Amino acid sequence: MNRIVSIATRYARKGGARKVTKLVLQIGQMSDVIPDALRLVYPMCTENTMLEGVTMEIEPLPAMGKCKQCEHVYNLLEHEFKCPKCSGEQWELLSGRELLIKELEVM
Ligand SMILES: [Zn+2]
Repeated sequence: MNRIVSIATRYARKGGARKVTKLVLQIGQMSDVIPDALRLVYPMCTENTMLEGVTMEIEPLPAMGKCKQCEHVYNLLEHEFKCPKCSGEQWELLSGRELLIKELEVM
């Protein structure tokens, strides 16, 4: 979280912003980051920074995988890591580990 805060504040300063009004994050479903845990530490991590008191929104990014047997692309969590097409359980992770700053609303 501290890394996100420092990136976001640096970015806001660079853009000449006086105040940040909203922060939108995208978190992959397979990421190590737990959205609820992030919400919990957010007020502490943003104390005395440009992000203090700023609304944070979190959007989940689906965990997508490609089946190694039939190359079908599917949502890993929805199908419990089993290919819905061939029932293969070997997959390659395409996305879902991301932690991105999607939007930074400034004044
Ligand atoms: Zn398959």
